[in-house]
Amino acid sequence: MQILVDLARCQGYAQCVFHAPEMFELHGEEALLYHPAVPDEQRERVLQAAAACPVQAILLGEGVSSGAR
Ligand code: SF4
Repeated sequence: MQILVDLARCQGYAQCVFHAPEMFELHGEEALLYHPAVPDEQRERVLQAAAACPVQAILLGEGVSSGAR
């Protein structure tokens, strides 16, 4: 699973940081840092984080497998 945060929408509410502190980090008021690639063990937390975001700024997707590694 992959994370894409719409930073134009993100208001720095930090709900995502609260739910998945290993994936999201807030620097200052509005500078959100995040890890785009979600390890399996973080899936549940990331889903909760996305659901908790008050402005639905967190988009989740499954990576498209090209078969090439
Ligand atoms: S919960 Fe949403 S608005 Fe708040 S910091 Fe995370 S992405 Fe931004």
